[in-house]
Amino acid sequence: MQFIDLHRQYEVIGKKVESGLNRVLSHKKFIGGSEIRELEDRLADFAGTKHAICCANGTDALIISLMTIGAGDNDAVFVPSFTFFSTAESVSLAGATPVFVDCRRDTFNISAGSLKEAIENVKREGKLKPKAIVAVDLFGQPAEYDKIRKIADEYNLFVIEDGAQGFGGEIKGKKACSFGDISTTSFFPAKPLGCYGDGGAIFTDSDEFAEMIRSLHIHGQGEGKYDNIRIGMNSRLDTMQAVILDAKMDVFENELEMRNHVAQRYSEKLRDWLDVPVILDNYMSCWAQYTLKAGEGQNRDHIIRSLNEQNIPAAVYYPIPVHLSGAYKSADQRYAELTNTEYLCSRVFSIPMHAYLKDDEIDVICDTIKRITEDKNRSQNE
Ligand SMILES: *Cc1c(COP(=O)(O)O)cnc(C)c1O
Repeated sequence: MQFIDLHRQYEVIGKKVESGLNRVLSHKKFIGGSEIRELEDRLADFAGTKHAICCANGTDALIISLMTIGAGDNDAVFVPSFTFFSTAESVSLAGATPVFVDCRRDTFNISAGSLKEAIENVKREGKLKPKAIVAVDLFGQPAEYDKIRKIADEYNLFVIEDGAQGFGGEIKGKKACSFGDISTTSFFPAKPLGCYGDGGAIFTDSDEFAEMIRSLHIHGQGEGKYDNIRIGMNSRLDTMQAVILDAKMDVFENELEMRNHVAQRYSEKLRDWLDVPVILDNYMSCWAQYTLKAGEGQNRDHIIRSLNEQNIPAAVYYPIPVHLSGAYKSADQRYAELTNTEYLCSRVFSIPMHAYLKDDEIDVICDTIKRITEDKNRSQNE
């Protein structure tokens, strides 16, 4: 069994992928082929934003977004600590300072209360200037952008949506990657919409930002190719990846339904055994991960080991809070309590999640989990 099964998906999209790649091989516009703009239009259309600009990966998408809003020296950018490292790393690479914020225990997403506490503490200390919030749509569920926007307005901050795991999610029918002043996603192969290498995209409704982003992602390009008007990056999606993403977009809507079916079946079967993921009312997840929490008296690492022994992959996203990672722990300066983050890092684990998981496979996984947790309880009671 695979954690994310790209083989089964290929059986569905393979023909279109191969004919698209052959087309690129014959026209040979490997960088900047017309397929890129076509994909950008399709992505913007899906997300409901005015602009989508493709780039080399989700980390670059964040760095370019932060450069676009002018985040730099002495700016505080508020990020959750329960996320992939890249969310904070991109802030540091842009020259600003990540300030870590706690998350909700139920949804795993940034906590509005903790965010406010961190902003107030940064202001009180007076060393850094609050500049932006990077909210993450962790495991596929959008963060609470109504609350985040209210706080951003109150303190005059930009909102960046890190939708690397979120593309395809919704709040009240409005799509993920449309909630930030600038929003980003990643096309890393394991993401809900993944290509066959690295890739990413940046979304915005602002013409001014879009122009800046287009310039920044190709060496700060101005009107002409050799007219470089600012310091930028070399961060393009290549044409072959665009062709693969185009094939995947054909089935994406359908896959979202299939992922939601998998998640629903998991939750129905596992609800009485473990803490299952919580999706807020009117929210839809694209299920980048299906993440469970071991409860009191349940040993997470024992559960994972036992699953692996039965050839069922399981993994921990994320075992170490970003504020305690090697890169950040020595500079660790708390502006907010991060207790939920630390709690979750010791409790969560994720089980196989992809659109092509079959009902009988889901049932085997659930039955195995039940047996493991039951055995554990029994051995503890003896
Ligand atoms: C994957 C991921 C990124 C980075 O994307 P890459 O394409 O790997 O650079 C950023 N943020 C989050 C939350 C991610 O999961």
